[in-house]
Amino acid sequence: MSVAQNLRTLRERIAQAARRFGREPEAIRLLAVSKTKPVAAIREALAEGQQEFGENYLQDALPKIEAFSDRSDLSWHFIGGLQSNKTRQVAENFAWVQSLDNPRHARRLNDQRPEGQPPLQVCVQVNLSRESRKSGVPPEDCAALAEQVAALPRLQLRGLMAIPAPGGDFSEQCTVFRQLRELYQFLRQERGLALDTLSMGMTDDLEAAIAEGSTLLRIGTAIFGARDYTSKG
Ligand SMILES: *Cc1c(COP(=O)(O)O)cnc(C)c1O
Repeated sequence: MSVAQNLRTLRERIAQAARRFGREPEAIRLLAVSKTKPVAAIREALAEGQQEFGENYLQDALPKIEAFSDRSDLSWHFIGGLQSNKTRQVAENFAWVQSLDNPRHARRLNDQRPEGQPPLQVCVQVNLSRESRKSGVPPEDCAALAEQVAALPRLQLRGLMAIPAPGGDFSEQCTVFRQLRELYQFLRQERGLALDTLSMGMTDDLEAAIAEGSTLLRIGTAIFGARDYTSKG
């Protein structure tokens, strides 16, 4: 199956879920997660009209971003684990960071964002499953971090992101996503933060994410096929 065909099938799947749950399909953006995938695969998605791409591993991502440096219409989202010694390259090369989970990284990204570029677009990553080895802030610390990010001039807070533990049936997936939506609504309504991005939903749980109000799906496998981690990443 080709990337182009996969994308068409996926868009139809998203539109169907949107209709089923009373959502406007246009209100649900699609981020193509191209981690470990080659430039050629990204080019195929691009030819099919896809313009937002997500990457997890800096060394894997930088040559790909460079390969498309003449395409100012593309935007790259960093969605992987952040490390202090990588924040500068993230601040210089990406339009978005969706995996911010501590104030120290927020300050570094703010200080390192080049002056000539627009503010770095940020989602705070929330750890909904409370496993200590997982990244993301605990829900109770989310508001404090969101307010710190909102106060930094070179960052623009856009919303929240979460990666729930895989598995579960539709209603279990909905229960987890609902927690993120409630946190998002709390920040907007009670804290007055101007958020517009609820980043949730991957290949195996996108219907539940749409049902619970996702505005940004992050999809890899359904577009590019299964990933091979033996050589990269
Ligand atoms: C890999 C990854 C995805 C995409 O997952 P698929 O199941 O392949 O769609 C989405 N979000 C993050 C943070 C990821 O690391």
